[in-house]
Parts: sequence; C-alpha cells; structure tokens
Amino acid sequence: MGKGSNSLILDSALTIPFIKLGKAFQSIAYQNGYVYAKAGTSVPQLMAFSQKEGLSGLEFMSGVPASLGGMIAMNFGCWDRCMKDIVESVDVFIPKKGFVTFTNEECNFDYRSSLFQSLNGLIIGAKLAISHSNSKAVKETINRYVSERLQKQPMRLATFGSIFKNPPSSSAALLIDRAGLKGYQYPRVRISTAHANFMENKGKASSKEALDLIQHIQQDIYNRYNVTLIPEVHIFQ
Ligand SMILES: Cc1cc2nc3c(=O)[nH]c(=O)nc-3n(C[C@H](O)[C@H](O)[C@H](O)COP(=O)(O)OP(=O)(O)OC[C@H]3O[C@@H](n4cnc5c(N)ncnc54)[C@H](O)[C@@H]3O)c2cc1C
Repeated sequence: MGKGSNSLILDSALTIPFIKLGKAFQSIAYQNGYVYAKAGTSVPQLMAFSQKEGLSGLEFMSGVPASLGGMIAMNFGCWDRCMKDIVESVDVFIPKKGFVTFTNEECNFDYRSSLFQSLNGLIIGAKLAISHSNSKAVKETINRYVSERLQKQPMRLATFGSIFKNPPSSSAALLIDRAGLKGYQYPRVRISTAHANFMENKGKASSKEALDLIQHIQQDIYNRYNVTLIPEVHIFQ
C-alpha cells in the first residue's frame, strides 16, 4: 500500500493484511548523479527536495497524492512522461527470496503497469535519473503543472485520478462524456463534471457504491460503443 490514491478496498478485502511503509521508508538523497528515494516517500517530499536542490526530472509527478512505491508499481505517468523514463533501478523485498534489485528493463514497464503488480514483492526504494537545473526553474515547472491540474481536474475532492485506462486509440473520458454520464451521481459518488474519467466522493460514499458506479459506466459504454473499459484503479476484493 502506498498512499492509497489508486486503490479501492471493498469490505470483503478487509481480512487481507495490508503493509503500509512508515517513516523509516521516507527518505531522499542525491548520490552520484541520481536521486535515491525510499518507496514511502510522498510526492510533496520529492517536490520539496527537487526544488531545494535544483534537480529536474521529477516535476511531472507534482500535485498528485501518491508515494514513490505506488508510482513505480503503476508506472505513473502524465505530461508525456512516466516512471519508465526516470527509473534507473528498483530495490524490492521478495518474501522467501530476500532483497533483489531490478534494472529498468527488468521492471516490464507498460501503460499503467509493471512487473510489480504481479510479483508479490515490496518495493523498498529506487534510483531515479535527474538532471541539474536550478531551484527557480524547478519551482516554476511544478507550479505550472499544479495550476494546469487545478484547472482541468477536481484536485480538491476525494478521487482516484483516472478511473479507467484509455482504450487503444481512444479516450475513456471522451467516451464517458459522449455517453452523457458527466455529472451522473449514484448515490454518493459522482462522475466529475470537470473531468469525465474522475469520480468524486460526495460524502461518506462506501467502496461498494464506488464499485457499483464503475460497473455501471463499464456496462453503459459497452452497450453504446462495444468498448470494454478496464479500471486503472486497483480494486481489492
Ligand atoms: C488527484 C489525483 C490525480 C492523479 N493523477 C494521475 C496521473 O496524472 N497519472 C497517473 O498515472 N495516475 C494518477 N493518479 C493515480 C495515482 O495517484 C497513481 O496511480 C499513483 O501511482 C498511486 O500511488 P499510491 O502511492 O497512492 O499507490 P496505491 O494506491 O497505494 O497503490 C497502487 C498499487 O501499487 C501497489 N503498491 C504501492 N506501494 C507499493 C510498494 N511499496 N511495493 C509494491 N507495490 C506497491 C499497491 O499494492 C497497488 O496495487 C491520480 C490520483 C489522484 C487522486
């Protein structure tokens, strides 16, 4: 478990033990031309470090409430960059095997997926490629990305980010919008009017309500366009 920003946990999954990395797994250091960060490090911590040290390359993450481990597992991406572009290597703890270091190629990064989604291992930390810049330039890039997000996405509400992966050569948001589902609410979860591929928790919605709405959208889009939308959000049930 990282920051949980891409996880939907059903009541039926509450018997599964979840491991959440604590403070001991939140650190960042600059070493020989790379940034080494532990997996529990949050995006705000990574942004503060980049800005202070004038190191560029991580700004595309800005504004997202995620952890480094979760971003690597998901091959997080936006603004035409993704984790695959910056990961040099990943340190992982695998039960009954021990500590293993994976090179970028060995991580099998693909669109919002990686080896770590099926490996049954715990990402401990990663070496990230950065370039030298200056604090002012890094700060400006971070601010620009955050303000673009604030304009286009419901960043101040409880969401998962994108609910669905984009189908090949199409856009999940466009299909949901065309289907007239923007603003559709069931019962305490709403498809965002700001971005059709986001859903907002309008109160104390249960995980079941969120799952019901996800399935409703999938059925509607399949009936209209014969397209199966695959959730990007990880559903634990
Ligand atoms: C407002 C908002 C905006 C977003 N924008 C984007 C975006 O632009 N692009 C994008 O790609 N995503 C986006 N997301 C989705 C989400 O932030 C990313 O998927 C992020 O990578 C998830 O990180 P997390 O730490 O919250 O992971 P979690 O939700 O905690 O976990 C996600 C998956 O990673 C696994 N995992 C987490 N940590 C580890 C670890 N240490 N070792 C092994 N496995 C681990 C979990 O088991 C789970 O399967 C957004 C989310 C929100 C709320």
